[in-house]
Amino acid sequence: MIKHVHVIGAGLAGLSAAVRLTAAGIAVTVHEATRQAGGRCRSYDDAATGMHIDNGTHLLLSGNHAAVDYLKAIGITPDFAPANFRFVDGATGESWILRMGDGSLPTWIFDAGSRVPRTSILDYLKLAPLLLGRTDRPLREVLDRDSELYRRLLDPLMVAALNIDTPSGSSRLAAQIARETLMRGGQACRPLVFERGLSTAFVEPALALLSARGATVRFEHELEGLTFADSGSVTLRFRDEEITLGDEAAVILAVPAYAATALVPGLDAPDQFRSIINFHYDCAPPANSPFMTGVIGRTVEWIFAFKNRISATISHADRLLTLPRQDLAATVWGEIADILDMDGPLPKWQLVRERRATFAATPQQNARRPGPKTRWPNVILAGDWTDTGLPATIEGAIRSGRNAAELLSNR
Ligand SMILES: Cc1cc2nc3c(=O)[nH]c(=O)nc-3n(C[C@H](O)[C@H](O)[C@H](O)COP(=O)(O)OP(=O)(O)OC[C@H]3O[C@@H](n4cnc5c(N)ncnc54)[C@H](O)[C@@H]3O)c2cc1C
Repeated sequence: MIKHVHVIGAGLAGLSAAVRLTAAGIAVTVHEATRQAGGRCRSYDDAATGMHIDNGTHLLLSGNHAAVDYLKAIGITPDFAPANFRFVDGATGESWILRMGDGSLPTWIFDAGSRVPRTSILDYLKLAPLLLGRTDRPLREVLDRDSELYRRLLDPLMVAALNIDTPSGSSRLAAQIARETLMRGGQACRPLVFERGLSTAFVEPALALLSARGATVRFEHELEGLTFADSGSVTLRFRDEEITLGDEAAVILAVPAYAATALVPGLDAPDQFRSIINFHYDCAPPANSPFMTGVIGRTVEWIFAFKNRISATISHADRLLTLPRQDLAATVWGEIADILDMDGPLPKWQLVRERRATFAATPQQNARRPGPKTRWPNVILAGDWTDTGLPATIEGAIRSGRNAAELLSNR
């Protein structure tokens, strides 16, 4: 029986594992390399602008059940908005609201006033091969890229959900996203963005709960290596100490793929990544600005109108990484001002480039994802890059942590 688990990494996968393990009465020590928990899903005070910002604006949908359960377990009640999504077509200036209603089936596709303008019900029915396909193929082989539905909905959705150029994306991952959200109607597509910051929702309440349950979280405590003895025993090597796992102890490696492959010999894992760029402008949006706007055919992809700031996201952004920051911030601001109908100079801004935001969600990379078990029974893997069936998302990370914890607590 496992009595003590060392969780390496205090991202959402590690926190989710730790919350689950402590609920089962198992002692937990979390070791985090940096000074802060949250990993790729974190908030901080930005000294340059004085804003409290997230590394990236994250969107959760009501169909992300593991994430909702996790939030409830740490005492947060998620408050989802209605499933209405505003889009602007940068080429034509046309704007519309996709209204998914609140049912449990995607009945909105039958209503011309709710679905994407200039699409017909037939366009949606043509998605059957995506949903029914058995093999994982690049989306270019499955989607009709000449259709308005592709240009106005599927492409922006897939770029955001998979963080990849849509044609190269994995059909299996896209289909799973569709099954868990779009196919379940507006009820599963209600959005939630975290006005008060990601850490307030996902991280701080989890740390408080772990502390109340007697778990220890050690910051700036990087796992530098693992030693696997011929006898089967495993030793965790930190800068200041070594811990050899006894029969009743285990480790969950909830670190990114590139960190896990450096720690575990012979581990196959995704080795290609894609970036996301986030922009934060110190400027209150005009009254009545839609909270979220999807933008088609411009540089900016999503605009978020927070109470006192405007944020924007560009996914699959590797092509923009070498551009001067100031130019990029000014270009995106110009587009935002146009779309939200604002005047005025460029406000104070911050731009966050997450170079390895997610693994590249192609069929080839998806095939490299391992399950939670390793050759060593007391070394378990977690993280958004493990084989969760989902792309790298909050839901996938939290699910992976929960599954890793369950493997150990059921032992
Ligand atoms: C800009 C951006 C926007 C995103 N938007 C969305 C979104 O809208 N919706 C969505 O669902 N998902 C989104 N994601 C994806 C989501 O953030 C990730 O899938 C999720 O946070 C990954 O969590 P994780 O715990 O698997 O990994 P991580 O968050 O990477 O956590 C791993 C942790 O391990 C630590 N670590 C690494 N090596 C060691 C070591 N040797 N010893 C100790 N600690 C170590 C790291 O410091 C880190 O804290 C976005 C990601 C980014 C970057």
